[in-house]
Order: sequence, then structure tokens, then C-alpha cells
Amino acid sequence: MNNSFTSGKIITENEFRTYAKCSELYNFGSKINFSIGLKIVKDTIEQLTLRSIRGSLRAPLLDIQACLLKSVTKYSQEESLIEPQIERYLNACMLWLQDFFNLFNFSTYIPVFGPIAPIIRISKTPIRLDISGLYRSKKNQTIHGISFSPYSSRHSISNDPTTLLKVKLLSPFVAEHFPTRRAKVVLHNFFYGKNNNIGYVTTSSNQIKDSSYLMIENIVQNMEKGHHYPIVPCLYSCKFKKSCFPTGLKNE
Ligand code: SF4
Repeated sequence: MNNSFTSGKIITENEFRTYAKCSELYNFGSKINFSIGLKIVKDTIEQLTLRSIRGSLRAPLLDIQACLLKSVTKYSQEESLIEPQIERYLNACMLWLQDFFNLFNFSTYIPVFGPIAPIIRISKTPIRLDISGLYRSKKNQTIHGISFSPYSSRHSISNDPTTLLKVKLLSPFVAEHFPTRRAKVVLHNFFYGKNNNIGYVTTSSNQIKDSSYLMIENIVQNMEKGHHYPIVPCLYSCKFKKSCFPTGLKNE
């Protein structure tokens, strides 16, 4: 089980995401994890971002293939994948990467920094965020951040507090453009949808209200106090259902 008292300890964005989804799930030591396919695509995009910043991209397709192969090799060792699984991930991830570049092309967005793991302090708790790359569009100074989410629905991603924290952290780095009031930051969150497709949710700094940050502060303060309780009713399919709602305790 997790010790929910966080003061003085750095927590990862995934731990915070889990606590925000269900404090009891976090207390049980569970985490909302990335699928292997998403880990491979994320790692490949991060490698390509680094290569682009260093000016070492040569031929787009060959670069993508080389980075993808490196990522698949890394995760196939970590996850002990067998040959047919490796082949399947290579083919599926190549298709997902093509979808990715149809949505977010390096000729429209110029990579400037990343991947980064900056720390933001909320209340007494430092939270380590995970941002795969920072980009500028050719049109204006808005920062475009890329991030990957283990969630598979737009609704969950739009309500994920780590998305808001990333926008909050990046906003002070861009000056306000008073004539247009254009967004300082746009975060592009990629995920795998339930139909095995790559999905995409954007969140701009203009969409976020101060009350959203207050809500995040409340969640962190609850976490620091060690509060944890099941969601009632709980509609998630979760392996802890029997622990949260033993016979006699109603899930409603
Ligand atoms: S069963 Fe529901 S309430 Fe219990 S830990 Fe899982 S998600 Fe949380």
C-alpha cells in the first residue's frame, strides 16, 4: 500500500493521476499504466524530437524506422516479448506513428526542447511531470507541448489534473500577446482510443480557469493528509472491487 503522506517526497505525475482518479486505488499501490504500444510510440517520438533539435534528422521515413526499431528493442527486452509480438508491435506502431505525424507534423511545428521531466510544487508536494517535447509553430510564439496519456477517452484526458499542471508550468515562459489574446500554451495529449486508434486532445492556456487550479490544490492537500476512500458508486472495472465493497457493503 502507498503511504499517502506526501510532504517532502517527489511524486510522479502518474501517482498523482492515480490519486486524482481514485484515492483508494492509489492507497492500494496501483498505478494507471501506459500500454506497451504507447510506451514504444512515446519513446520513438522523444528520440525523433531529440534528433531534430540536434539537427541529425536525415530522411524522414528512415529516421522514424531507426528510432522505432530502437524503442521496440528496448521494450521487447524489458517486457520479454517473443518474435511474433515484436513483429506485431513494429507494424502497429509504424501505423500509429503515421497517424501521429498526420496530426502533428514537424514541418508545421519546430521542436525546440525535450523530452523533459520538470517539477511543479503544489501545496507542500513536488510533482514530477512528463513532457515529451516542446515545439513552436511557424506562425506565432505559442508553445506547443506534446504529452502522452494512459487514458483512452477524451473525457478522462480533459479532466486529468496533470494536463492542467503542464499548461500552468509552461505559461510563464510566453509573454502575453495583448492584441490577439492568443493562447500562450497549447498542450497536445495523445492516447490510444478504444478502437485501437490514436486519439488527440488539445488543451490551451485560454481554456483553463483559476478555479481548476484551486481544485488541484485541494486534491494535493487531501493526499498530504493521507485521506483515501473508495468512490461510491464505483463504475470502474477494477481488481479491488471486492476489497472496497465486501459482501454487505453496497456500491451505490
Ligand atoms: S474498486 Fe473503485 S473505489 Fe475501489 S479502488 Fe477500484 S476504482 Fe477505487
